[in-house]
Amino acid sequence: MTYGFRGRGLRYAAAALSVVAIGAAGSTTAYGGGGVGTGNGGNGDGVFPLPKGKYTYGDGLGAGRGHEGQDILTKCGKPIVSAQQGRVQTNKFQSAAGNYIVIDGKGKDKDLMYAHMKKPSKLKVGEKVSMGEEIGKVGDTGDATACHLHFEMWSNPGWYEGGHPVDPKPSLKQWAKG
Ligand SMILES: [Zn+2]
Repeated sequence: MTYGFRGRGLRYAAAALSVVAIGAAGSTTAYGGGGVGTGNGGNGDGVFPLPKGKYTYGDGLGAGRGHEGQDILTKCGKPIVSAQQGRVQTNKFQSAAGNYIVIDGKGKDKDLMYAHMKKPSKLKVGEKVSMGEEIGKVGDTGDATACHLHFEMWSNPGWYEGGHPVDPKPSLKQWAKG
């Protein structure tokens, strides 16, 4: 989530409750890994950012509250991997996003942002990241009432660099088939 980045922090408490409700009532999808060899072979241009365990989709783009990404509910501590290759643009803590990281696709691809990580990513700003490389663990830092990955996809030129958030769910669904 990014509510706080644009002054939406106050809305988050209510919004998060709806995420929990969706998590409790929604369907659960088992993701068996897939792909070639490593289980992270990917499908076309990326890999699903949560390679292990069950997950449930929470709120998507918009969600009636200017939500800028897709929430994916799963257990805290599950590894998060980089869905695409790129370079670390930002690795910070923010009161709403918690520990978050932005991977810049460097013009070729979109910028991807991962929030609420359990701990700060060990990756350094400017460091190259491979597709499928672990970047952190699922957490509930920042304004989150349940363990989940908040995942954003930004069009070029990128995250808060003039791009705008696009719906990542079609890509996530494609990558999950990996
Ligand atoms: Zn979110």
